[in-house]
Amino acid sequence: MSARTLAVYKKKRNFKTSPEPAGKVGASRKKLFFCVQKHLASHLHYDLRLEYKGVLLSWAVPKGPSLDPQMKRLAVEVEDHPRDYGSFEGIIPSGYGAGIVLLWDRGTWLPQGDIALMLEKGHLSFQLHGEKLKGGFSLTRMRFAGSKPQWLLVKKDDDEASRLDVLKKDKSVKSKKDFAAIVRNHIPDSWLHNPPARGGEAGGMFHSLLSKVLKKKSVRAL
Ligand code: MN
Repeated sequence: MSARTLAVYKKKRNFKTSPEPAGKVGASRKKLFFCVQKHLASHLHYDLRLEYKGVLLSWAVPKGPSLDPQMKRLAVEVEDHPRDYGSFEGIIPSGYGAGIVLLWDRGTWLPQGDIALMLEKGHLSFQLHGEKLKGGFSLTRMRFAGSKPQWLLVKKDDDEASRLDVLKKDKSVKSKKDFAAIVRNHIPDSWLHNPPARGGEAGGMFHSLLSKVLKKKSVRAL
């Protein structure tokens, strides 16, 4: 596997209008960072990011990770992100990925083999040492849908496996806030008329977040 690049990441974003880090490819390190960012955008999803060669390999997991080995979760491979992205939380007002990012989990990951080889074979086996996600997981590449390879994220059947719904832990590991607390006082005006999602689960979530905030605003205005 050749050197990683952030070209696609940078091309998709305007750093004058987005608070996301522009970032750069870092040096390789022994202890590898991982994070999961809960991202309410046009659709709700969880972005799993694993450090490799100075960047964060990234997958969008629409249903989020599960601790239940029976649950196979679709994980759509997306562009590498800068390592700085791993501490990002906040509002992306407009453009690519517009919405709310909550740093849902973070820690270190331990590959169970040679990363380059596992990526090439399409089967990544690893341990997570996060605050919410722990134990063995695997990512298995199923198919290439256009330019975005689709993988399945599955928990290994070990001591950390559980039927408990880990997604119910909905607060940030960085700020301890939930979505509502993150957007409070920070909703871009443009969202009032043009929210990042309408309809569906994400549209409903934006609608209820916006109306909560608006209610508070009008109470203050009185
Ligand atoms: Mn995302």
